[in-house]
Order: sequence, then C-alpha cells, then structure tokens
Amino acid sequence: MQHVDVRMRRYRTDEEVDYCIVGVGAAGGVLIQRLARAGFKVVGLEAGPFWDTERDWVSDEAGSHKLYWTEPRVIGGRDPLALGANNSGRGVGGGSVHWAAFTPRFHPSDFRVHSEDGVGVDWPMSYDELKPYYELLELEMPVAGPAYFPWGHPHGYAYGPHPMGGVGDILIKGCTKLGIRVSAGGPVAILSGSHGDRPHCIYRGFCIQGCKVGAKQSTLISHVPDAIKNGAEIRDNCMVARVNLGKNGRVTGVTYFDPAGRECEQKSKAVIVCGYAIETPRLLLNSACPGFEKGLANSSGTLGHYLMAQAGNVILGRFDELVRMYKAPPAHALTEEFYETDSKRDFARGFAIQTVGPLPISFAKQMMVAKGAWGWGMRKVMMDYNHWAALGLLGEILPWHDNRVELSEEKDKHGIPVAKVTFNLHDNDKKLIEYGKNKVMEVMWAAGAEEVVQEPRYAHLVGASRMGSDPSKSVVDKFGRTHDISNLFVCDGSILPTQGSANPGLTIQALAARTADYLISQGDDVFTSSSRSMERPPVRKNLSPPGTWGKGVPRLT
Ligand SMILES: Cc1cc2nc3c(=O)[nH]c(=O)nc-3n(C[C@H](O)[C@H](O)[C@H](O)COP(=O)(O)OP(=O)(O)OC[C@H]3O[C@@H](n4cnc5c(N)ncnc54)[C@H](O)[C@@H]3O)c2cc1C
Ligand code: SF4
Repeated sequence: MQHVDVRMRRYRTDEEVDYCIVGVGAAGGVLIQRLARAGFKVVGLEAGPFWDTERDWVSDEAGSHKLYWTEPRVIGGRDPLALGANNSGRGVGGGSVHWAAFTPRFHPSDFRVHSEDGVGVDWPMSYDELKPYYELLELEMPVAGPAYFPWGHPHGYAYGPHPMGGVGDILIKGCTKLGIRVSAGGPVAILSGSHGDRPHCIYRGFCIQGCKVGAKQSTLISHVPDAIKNGAEIRDNCMVARVNLGKNGRVTGVTYFDPAGRECEQKSKAVIVCGYAIETPRLLLNSACPGFEKGLANSSGTLGHYLMAQAGNVILGRFDELVRMYKAPPAHALTEEFYETDSKRDFARGFAIQTVGPLPISFAKQMMVAKGAWGWGMRKVMMDYNHWAALGLLGEILPWHDNRVELSEEKDKHGIPVAKVTFNLHDNDKKLIEYGKNKVMEVMWAAGAEEVVQEPRYAHLVGASRMGSDPSKSVVDKFGRTHDISNLFVCDGSILPTQGSANPGLTIQALAARTADYLISQGDDVFTSSSRSMERPPVRKNLSPPGTWGKGVPRLT
C-alpha cells in the first residue's frame, strides 16, 4: 500500500461532486477513504504535496522540515505558542506523516470533565459512543501495545508490544522505583511485525521525519490508497481559500488556488473542512459573507475560541551509562497514573509521562533552552548526546475563551489573511505544569540520572471549532455538522471540546470514522434536507481498509 500509484479518477471542477474534503490529513484521510468506499463522489483538496515516501523522504533530521506547515502565522498572548514544526502537517497524510504515533485512547472521564471535575465542558457524547471506533482504528492503523492497558477503560491490543529502547528502560526503572505503574512497548501505531505489504519497524528512530520504511501509520499509507482505489480524487498542492455559501443558505463548494496559483472553484453538494486546529477556523473566518459577517457557521461567536495545546515540557537527564535515545521510536512507553483529578493536588485534571527521544538537532535546541548551552558548551553537550534521555510531560490544559485563532492584517502569498494565534496559561494550567514537571524530574532522578534539566514546551493543538449540543455555545454538533449550515461539516482536531492528557491522533481518526458512518446513514438527506437526525449510526466494520478488520490476536476489549 505504501507505493501509491497516484493515477486516479479525476472530476471536472464544474462537475458537482457529493463531498469536497478540505485537507487530507489524519481525519481527512480516514473520512475520504470511507466515503469513497461507500460509493460517494468525493474530492479531497490538500494544500501540500502527495508524498512519495521513497522519493521525498530521507532518514535525516534536517531534511524533513518540508513535512510541517511552516507558512507565516502571527503569535501572541502571555504564553505564545511556538508553531511551525511543532504542530500542523502539510501534504497528504497531514500531521499523521510526522507524528510520533503514540495512540492512547481518551479516558471515559474526558467526556465528562465539567460534570465530574467542574472545569472545562462536557462532550456531547460519551466514551461508549466512541469506543467501537477506537477498536476499529486500532486495527486499521494498526496499534501495537500491551495485552492489558490498565488506565481509563482498561483494554488490550491485538498486536504485541515493541521491545524497549534506552529511554523506555529509564522510564520503567524510574517509575518502578517510585511504585508508579507503567506501560511498556506502546500503545503506538507502529508495526511490531509485518502487516500486509508494510514491513515491521527497524528501530532507527526517524518516526517524526516521516518513516520512509512504512512501519509507522499515516493515513497516506493506511487509508488514502484504499480511498483512491474506490474512486476518490485527491488534488494535492491546492490551497482552499473560501467555502462558498449559496442563496439558499447552503454551501455550494469551495474556491481554491491550484498548483499554478490560479483561482478555481469546486462545486459540491456538501463540504467537510478537515484542516486542523488553526487552518480550519482560519478558513471559516475567511469565508465570512452576508449573513455570516463574523465567519461562516459562526452565529455562536465561538469559532476560533477555546484553542488548546497540551503542556509538553521535555525533561532531560544525563546518565553515566550509554542511553542512545535515537535507537527506537520516540514513542514506546508511558504512564497514565496521574491522568485523573486527584483531590490531594491543588488543580483539576492531570497528565501523562511519555518517552520522547529527540534526535540531535532537537536535542541541541533543548539544551540551548534548558542549559543555556552555546559555543564550546554546546559542542561538549552534543558530544555527550548518547548519555542523555528525554521524557515528556503531557499535561491537560483546559479550554479557555481567550485562547483563540483570528485573522491578522498580514496576508499569505495567496492574499489570504494569516492566522493570529493567542495563548495564555491560566491558574489551573500553571499549577498542573509545575506539579507534572516536578514529577517527571523525580522519575528521572529515581532512574539514576546525575543531572536533570527541562525545556518548557507545548504539544498537540486542538479545539477552536468546538463541538457541543448547544448551538449558542459551539460550532458543530456531535457528528461534526455545523449548527448553522446543514451541508457544512468540520472533521478534525479542531472540534475537540477538551483534550485530556492522551495524544489526540487516535481520537481524531476515530471521530472521523464515526462522522463517516453518520453521513452514510443520512444518505442524500445531507445534500437536500435541513432537518438533522441525531440518531447514533450503526458501526460499519465493512468500511475498514482490506486486511485490517478482525486481524491480530483477540484481546480484552
Ligand atoms: C512532532 C509531532 C509529533 C506528534 N506526535 C503525536 C503522537 O505521537 N500521537 C498523537 O496522537 N498525535 C501526535 N501529534 C499530533 C497529530 O499529528 C495531530 O493531532 C493530528 O495530525 C491532527 O489531525 P488533523 O486531521 O486535525 O490535522 P492534520 O493531520 O494536520 O491535517 C490537516 C491537513 O489539512 C491541510 N490543510 C489545511 N488547511 C488547508 C486548506 N485551506 N486547503 C487545503 N488543505 C488544507 C493540511 O495541509 C493538512 O494536510 C504530533 C504532532 C507533532 C507536530
Ligand atoms: S523507528 Fe520504526 S516507525 Fe520509526 S521511522 Fe524507524 S522504522 Fe519507522
């Protein structure tokens, strides 16, 4: 599946298709695959290139920057987010191309944080509604992990765990000394054995650089080939500038810039925006029009607000023995022992601790921030790289109204206003980060480190087009349908109302599979009717890419 023959069905732009999907990333890739399999006419417009894993990717840290969305963005607020390589993907597969592929599920409590902990907001759905999609996606990616994963809703993985790298050994040693339960070898969407025509992991540690080997899941290799086989068209290097609204209050398609920079229009019966936590609100805000002066589908005024990032401090420890942290996928061991609210702490919600394993360039940047390393000091610490280990805090930052995406005055090369991203930490977030960071340091010391330093950082942007039941407080309903416009949907990380302290990629892809089941159940009603059924759709296991459903060793579910 890895070597995609990109000959595919082509639609004319004046030919009205059923669905136009904006952004073929983590969510967009799963969605387009299912809609194509169900027989819809579907076109995916993707701002970045259609990667050829052999031709375009290199096992080289410096050579991989083109995988990220590095176009200009304006940042602000009291605690501005560093963007660029830290966040969005660009190109078919989106962020799943450069993700580390840690794939824990959200906990049942994540769906009820307001009811249980009095903070944030409840989701308009329960864990049980998403659980069948977690199970599907874990087989489709597939995810390798332990036979028993004890946190949240305990479950096991159908594919066996990975062997430990040096950093995993350190996390396990430190946690065991302190009596903290820890999971070894996953969950991670990396093959621990060969699967179909994809080979198993060779443990060279270039996961964040795109995994040239094809052992790590990205929708580019797991879902997009099946989408194309089933008649989807993916137009790469096409940047969507506006979603267009017709006179009848329904969207009619999108305006985009093709690879030659020409402005084109694609007509479609429905539009699904899958552009990520920043680009989705940016696009809808830029699609403001009479009737929607504050942004398309923004009658609630919440579009762009409640943007979230997880606290992602990296804690680095120096060990006398060799660690060689590059010799494994960065994602291979974690603990979720501190995930839930604990009344003994002075903040709500919690955090996870995970292996990180930066390669030398990232390590140099971390040493510059954490130790002020520079000049000869930097050379010395770089020569010592193989003795260092890095663990990551993954902490839940709550959704706040003042953390937001807006349009700035500045324009990009197409004349589209650049996104302005404002971010502030609040009291609960600061206390959580302080406590979590100290706990990770404690683990590092317990593992035998002789020096421990840390780099403050954020990871995983989500939110800003929040889902909810109340149209005056959210942008989309629980199936991703905008409250305002019945044939306009959002399907990506931007719809998350809260984020837990699990990496969001599995949840984002599971939500996409669920939205697809909903759209298939609704059939042509989506294109013609304004009434909306809120009935739970049947789970369609027969839409999984071939050779995935029912495979692996049955485990506790
Ligand atoms: C270094 C790194 C490591 C990570 N590791 C993990 C991990 O281990 N586990 C995990 O769960 N998550 C991880 N993540 C986060 C994960 O990658 C994202 O949460 C996920 O990819 C978001 O999915 P999405 O569908 O919302 O957006 P994306 O996957 O980013 O897809 C959006 C797509 O839309 C396209 N697009 C945007 N705007 C337009 C437009 N106007 N026109 C056309 N196309 C457009 C983009 O080019 C992109 O391809 C990591 C992120 C980074 C940066
Ligand atoms: S360590 Fe494994 S998953 Fe990561 S890039 Fe290498 S082969 Fe791919």
